[in-house]
Amino acid sequence: MLPDIENLLRLQVADKEIRRLQDEIAEFPKRIAVIEQKLAGTKAQLDKAQTAVKADEAARRKYDTAISDLRGKISKYRDQSLDVKTNDQYKALLHEIQFAEKEIGANEDKILELMLNADVRDKEVKAAQAELKAETAEIEKEKEDARRRTAEDEKLLAEQRAKRDQMRGGVNEDLLRHYERVSKFRGSGISEVREHKCMACQVMLRPQTYNDVRTGTNTVVCDSCQRILYFNPADELKEQLPGLHRPRRHHPKIDAPQAWYFRDNYGPDAAEVYIALTNSAGQASRRIYEMHTGRQIGDIIIREGNYRQAFPEDITGAIRLNGDWSEEELDTWGTEAPMVVLDSLLADLESARHEMKTRASAAPEPSSTPPPQQAAG
Ligand SMILES: [Zn+2]
Repeated sequence: MLPDIENLLRLQVADKEIRRLQDEIAEFPKRIAVIEQKLAGTKAQLDKAQTAVKADEAARRKYDTAISDLRGKISKYRDQSLDVKTNDQYKALLHEIQFAEKEIGANEDKILELMLNADVRDKEVKAAQAELKAETAEIEKEKEDARRRTAEDEKLLAEQRAKRDQMRGGVNEDLLRHYERVSKFRGSGISEVREHKCMACQVMLRPQTYNDVRTGTNTVVCDSCQRILYFNPADELKEQLPGLHRPRRHHPKIDAPQAWYFRDNYGPDAAEVYIALTNSAGQASRRIYEMHTGRQIGDIIIREGNYRQAFPEDITGAIRLNGDWSEEELDTWGTEAPMVVLDSLLADLESARHEMKTRASAAPEPSSTPPPQQAAG
């Protein structure tokens, strides 16, 4: 690997760390703003609750005044009633007294209502106060935390920047300018090449470009994303080693209309075979192929029912594989499965065997008969 590339990779690590720290520092005030907004909401709630309490108190005073006014009136009417001359006048006064008494009763009801409501109001105020206290404590803690972490981040940032400036000195100037320009737009300026692809933009490289990157005598940039490309043989090797980066195997469906199996003990010769079972129109068919030559063993067997019911002896203990070819296609093979089919089955068999080694769940088919299937195929 070119020294410039090695330096750029280190530079990229520092650049990423710098960006992370900058983002983190910018994040603190935003978090505090969110809590402050919540705090303002709680304050408004408390104000509202306290205003309601004051309004209730004012109303209460108003009703009290009204009651004492009415009582004054009643006593005045009583005094007057001693001096009346006619029965009509007396009746009128009595009526006034009754009316005033009714008014007193109405005002007392309203006071009672306020008293009952006062409990609720009190609870509202207390809850808002408690909430405000908790949120105030929280925001103080957050602010303190943000101050401390910002200071820490600033210190790390200064260190990373110094490190970066030093590393920049170790890279060819033109290359550095290119790296920084692409970094600014794309967030990264250098990309690994694996399996002929630029790993950053996932575009396939032209063969010449790929060879140039692999030999590593010149610096090469990706035609598509302009990132500087490098090749790490160790990573490419890791990719190809079985088991390390193996993609997850696709699992065949239990009720697929066609199923492929592998057996290593078929027939009197204990042959290694692939078995193709297909459901069609209430019948199941079976074809058997020798695994290495693809030569068909025996004739096509047709039985009633689905293949799980019709060929349990072939399924039990066999390894289920991925494979799906139409019945017509199988017919066109004649007595020999094509190489491409054998390759595909073999690749899947290897995956399945690997999986069985690493995962207990991927065991061969159990011998117990599975529950009856609903119209498979
Ligand atoms: Zn690219």
